[in-house]
Amino acid sequence: MMAPRFERPLPTPDELTAPFWEAARGRRLVRPVCQDCARSFFTPQLICPHCLSEKWHYLDSNGRGSVYSSTRVHRSPSPALPAPYELAVVELDEGWHMLTNIVATADVPTPIGARVEVTWLEIDDHWTFPAFRTLDMEDPR
Ligand SMILES: [Zn+2]
Repeated sequence: MMAPRFERPLPTPDELTAPFWEAARGRRLVRPVCQDCARSFFTPQLICPHCLSEKWHYLDSNGRGSVYSSTRVHRSPSPALPAPYELAVVELDEGWHMLTNIVATADVPTPIGARVEVTWLEIDDHWTFPAFRTLDMEDPR
């Protein structure tokens, strides 16, 4: 009998989310963009939450944004997710939000408003997860 392994929970891609995970595998961050109101949203869903249009498609994100909220998790809900880790909502520059992890070594959460950019966590041969890291230098925009 094999020793129990604590497997990290993995997504179950469906018709809506499979393109997101395929892009992530290639280290591209994409988000749904409505073809009627031109706004971005996340997570992928059947209709645009802004105008209820069914017409949207995935477009690349520039992968940069600001911390909207963040917390440092010291007590994990699962042994598969070793604590501590940082859970955050990032507001991307294209006007959408993503619940994600921030790769950080500090013992305090990344400050609200801090500039971050996407980075990639290779989970296994099939899965690459987006996460974020703080931008070291002043954003040149
Ligand atoms: Zn819309």
